[in-house]
Amino acid sequence: MSDTLFTKIIRREIPADIVYEDDDVLAFRDINPQAPVHVLFIPKQPIETLDDATDKHAGLLGQLMLAAARYAREQGFAENGYRVVMNCRDDGGQSVYHIHLHLLAGRRLAWPPG
Ligand code: IMP
Repeated sequence: MSDTLFTKIIRREIPADIVYEDDDVLAFRDINPQAPVHVLFIPKQPIETLDDATDKHAGLLGQLMLAAARYAREQGFAENGYRVVMNCRDDGGQSVYHIHLHLLAGRRLAWPPG
């Protein structure tokens, strides 16, 4: 798998507004926010799409979800609610092929998405 923008953010080769990091997960603000809060949670280990994830990634995928939920609680917007989304390939709207969980909050979100 070739480097993506997100690999370069992990390596600090390009700047990002990082809000959370641990050994396995990095989270930074989306450059084109779709809500008052729009943060991307990514695994440091690159996986191109959710369709490329296997049973061995189950723990890592759980870590992404839990890191997002913890961030929402700590930032005080869990009570009002939020959305997490992972787009997969073209029809899902994926543009960066390094899986990432979008965390969107701070306004009432419409459903279904477009
Ligand atoms: P996707 O469309 O689900 O793949 O989401 C990719 C997201 O990455 C989009 O919401 C983009 O706005 C965001 N993005 C692209 N480049 C950067 C960057 O350099 N920093 C932060 N977010 C980015």
